[in-house]
Amino acid sequence: MGSVLTEVERGRLPAVSILGVRVHRMGMEDVLRCIEQWIAERIPRMVITADANALVLAQQDSEFRTLLQAADLVTPDGAGLLWAARRLKQPFPERVPGVELVAQLVRLSHERGYRLYFVGAAPGVAQRAAQALQQLFPNAHIVGIDHGYFHPDEEPVLLRRITAASPDVLLVGMGMPRQEKWIARYKAQLGVPVSIGVGGSFDVYAGVVRRAPRWMQRSGLEWLWRLLHDPRKITKVRNLPRFVWLVWRESRC
Ligand code: UDP
Repeated sequence: MGSVLTEVERGRLPAVSILGVRVHRMGMEDVLRCIEQWIAERIPRMVITADANALVLAQQDSEFRTLLQAADLVTPDGAGLLWAARRLKQPFPERVPGVELVAQLVRLSHERGYRLYFVGAAPGVAQRAAQALQQLFPNAHIVGIDHGYFHPDEEPVLLRRITAASPDVLLVGMGMPRQEKWIARYKAQLGVPVSIGVGGSFDVYAGVVRRAPRWMQRSGLEWLWRLLHDPRKITKVRNLPRFVWLVWRESRC
């Protein structure tokens, strides 16, 4: 394997600092290599897929900011981050969105037998997402599925179920920053090598939510698509101009 793994071994991954958070300058292939290396090492680690909204949220939520700063890997998810890194003259090779990471990990599971566990979304949704993904990758090992609307009293049972299934990768789709805080709270106890917050990805694969057409993704207009389909996303969209302003101010200094 290539030079990224040498850097992983040295604990030094290439990154650019945006609003006080180191976002890693790695494309999808390198991110997957890194995850595979961590599966082999079996030390619990967390991956965060960060978009502009996440970095604005981190300015107001110090617990979330600490998690972003302590995460083992932060991937650039969204056109806003690509713009920011270009402005800071340290561009990302490409976007690494959570929704694509999910499909790539299911593919790797199909090819190499990695054990995946899905937690999140409304009852039945992650199940439907798993079925749809398994049609594409029939040998994928999805070793457990739970929805994301459990009562705190149900948590011990859920944690025991995850431990018993002994997954290599835990995909948690409960929205940001809830999913990252949940992973951080239970990461050591669960002992899963890699945990990743994947937001609304299960909704996408279950067909509950449609992703923006490719041309919109390419032109950085995915936020507009989301807003048109779910006006409750207005808070997230409102954070975009704030992100641009904060990065512009940071890069002037
Ligand atoms: N969700 C959940 N538990 C909760 C609240 C939300 O599992 O207590 C799920 C929700 O059903 C949806 C996902 O979390 O599937 C959040 O999706 P969204 O697109 O809002 O998240 P983002 O990708 O923006 O973080």
